[in-house]
Amino acid sequence: MIGMIIVSACLAGVECRYNGSSYSVPQIVEMVIQGKAIPICPEILAGLPTPRPPVEQFEGKIISLNGDDQTAPYRAGAKMGLEIAVVSGCQKAILKSKSPTCGAGWIYDGTFSGNLISGDGIFAKMLKDKGIEVCTEEIYCKG
Ligand code: SF4
Repeated sequence: MIGMIIVSACLAGVECRYNGSSYSVPQIVEMVIQGKAIPICPEILAGLPTPRPPVEQFEGKIISLNGDDQTAPYRAGAKMGLEIAVVSGCQKAILKSKSPTCGAGWIYDGTFSGNLISGDGIFAKMLKDKGIEVCTEEIYCKG
């Protein structure tokens, strides 16, 4: 049996990105409509407002454009998302690329200049550490 899949809520059409937009991907919206995927936004789970200041990872912390250390709420939201993934028995996740929370493989480098470095968002890393397969909308999970 194919288990449920976690997807970034913004990929499912939820307008939860920092600037109040979504990043809707029709195939992912359809997966949610068909009951095959659970949309999660860790940043919303953390109680953060939308819109909110952009953040990037820098030296292991989540730092906003105005220099505030936002690591604690972003980590708390990611942990809540992880708990949902675990209790739902999810083995895969399709997450939004490049995000400091959901990005997998590549994230922005913390300088807010559009540069990418290798690394994972904090939610993506927590899922991987639990053995859950993570990919992004750019490269779908195999199988
Ligand atoms: Fe999308 Fe993830 Fe950012 Fe939420 S935290 S807006 S789901 S990329």
